[in-house]
Amino acid sequence: MKTCDFCGNPVKDIALICPYCAQPLSVLPKKAIVVRKVLILNLEAGMPFVKDALEKFDLALKSVSSQNIGSIKIIHGYGSSGTGGKIKIALRQRLKSLLINKVIKGFIVGENYSKLTNSAIYNQKIVDCYPELLETQHADIYNPGITFVEL
Ligand SMILES: [Zn+2]
Repeated sequence: MKTCDFCGNPVKDIALICPYCAQPLSVLPKKAIVVRKVLILNLEAGMPFVKDALEKFDLALKSVSSQNIGSIKIIHGYGSSGTGGKIKIALRQRLKSLLINKVIKGFIVGENYSKLTNSAIYNQKIVDCYPELLETQHADIYNPGITFVEL
């Protein structure tokens, strides 16, 4: 399938005229640009138990597989005591096993996140793959309370 340049509807690759708006179409399908959406998931809100926070993450992970979402920005908080720190530790353990089992393609911990951070999937800066991340980049850089997951 390709996308009509005029109305944005999906049309067959071989179509010469858009069946929706009747505009002439280019013959070759456009190459998809690798720009994907970000889901922001707050696991810290409401100060849940670790188990409940992980369940919330699992549910979100299932729901995004049917959408054009390439990354989840998880807000889990941090700290040596309190809920945020425990969720952070448990979540990152979970992410390691999901990575080994190839359920996710990569994750980036907030502590290491900078303007130069590359995507774990694409050999490009993460903000070029997920432009929405630019909006909050200033607050996200070296933020130990967040983790980015790539799907
Ligand atoms: Zn059209």
